[in-house]
Amino acid sequence: MFVVTKFGGSSLASAEQFKKVKNIVLSDAKRKIVVVSAPGKRCSDDSKITDLLYILHAHLKYSVPYEDIWQMIRERYIEIRDNLRLDYNIEEELDIIRGKLNKNVPQDYLISRGEFLNAKLMSKYLGYEFLDAKDVIEFNYDGTVNYDVTVENGRKKVEELKQVVVPGFYGAYPNGNIKIFSRGGSDITGSIMARCVNASLYENWTDVSGIMVTDPRLVKNPKTIKEITYNELRELSYMGANVLHEDSIFPVQPLNIPIKILNTNDPTSEGTIISNECKDNSQAITGIAGKKNFVAITVAKTHMSNEVGFLRKTLSIFERYGISIEHVPTGIDNLSIVVARDQVERCLYELIVDIKQELGAEVTLYEDIALIAVVGRNMANKRGLCGKLLSVLGENGINMKMIDQGPDELNIILGINNSDYEKAIRVIYENIM
Ligand code: ASP
Repeated sequence: MFVVTKFGGSSLASAEQFKKVKNIVLSDAKRKIVVVSAPGKRCSDDSKITDLLYILHAHLKYSVPYEDIWQMIRERYIEIRDNLRLDYNIEEELDIIRGKLNKNVPQDYLISRGEFLNAKLMSKYLGYEFLDAKDVIEFNYDGTVNYDVTVENGRKKVEELKQVVVPGFYGAYPNGNIKIFSRGGSDITGSIMARCVNASLYENWTDVSGIMVTDPRLVKNPKTIKEITYNELRELSYMGANVLHEDSIFPVQPLNIPIKILNTNDPTSEGTIISNECKDNSQAITGIAGKKNFVAITVAKTHMSNEVGFLRKTLSIFERYGISIEHVPTGIDNLSIVVARDQVERCLYELIVDIKQELGAEVTLYEDIALIAVVGRNMANKRGLCGKLLSVLGENGINMKMIDQGPDELNIILGINNSDYEKAIRVIYENIM
């Protein structure tokens, strides 16, 4: 039985945090695979090592003096080592990296050193073997993970080494060159390791006691979600909730390996469990998330509904500009294409001209739209929920510009003005949850 435990940057920011991690790991013999991020912030005005590494890389690339920033990075690791009174010559590893600092140092290699060095320290501190992620996670040259090779590598290495610490966030191409995931990608490493050994559980240790029902910056002390399905989490992550990297679900979902979100600073709190099966079905709504700054491009043409292929032609213009579409609410003789503002900014006027000319349609632009996703596996077949949502928002003076429900009834998407966004989240939380 294997449990994979992954610790995020704030759980590894200092020697104090390392001590908490050791207590957690050693308190359960099943915790044989430990995945670590790079050291995060020790306090709100501190810097994350990964951010410093990006800055270091920019200095090198543009030939700006970089010694101060390198020293900041170096000292963070030495300080952790010293405060743990660890007998380990991390200077040796630091010197190897220092020797490679030049204008052409590959960015992914340099950025990945944040987790590499932290995993070295953690492996010494726990007395576990260091297992380099470059020897497990293999990327195809198109940037996707080669799961067949990766799972085989991971399984074999863990069988041989027994208890391991793996640096998160990166792997390698078949030629050995390092490639990193997108930011927050150590979550994906944890998930991949869980898949390699068919773990009974993937624990993701962070600095919050689970996933909250909604954004705590908008609602004071929101409730914690106890159980959530992978699909619900994806809906919420897509709409802005960011506890876990959204791609970390894919490696574990087919094997139904549950993910538990736990708090390193409060290890006995229950946390959130993510799986295919949830036992508690008492709540209609699991979570509320949202994002601002969408635009709706409304296309109107008389007798549009009779013109076969009109929708396809409209969408193909968006495709030509490489724009990803969020929603397409339709009327009889008009339809609206809702897209994120940053997607269309660069080509908005050309796009509108093309629609007008190619389709002979009128175009109206509605800007400053926010989308809110109300997500819940138990919403399906619940009568009256939509009505209640709309009436509480109306009673609170919030105008609804759009409403859309996914075919599986897992979400309801509401389109409102940007300026109503914060209030709408609070109104929904207080009246419907
Ligand atoms: N250290 C990386 C980041 O800050 C990866 C991670 O922590 O997951 O994005």
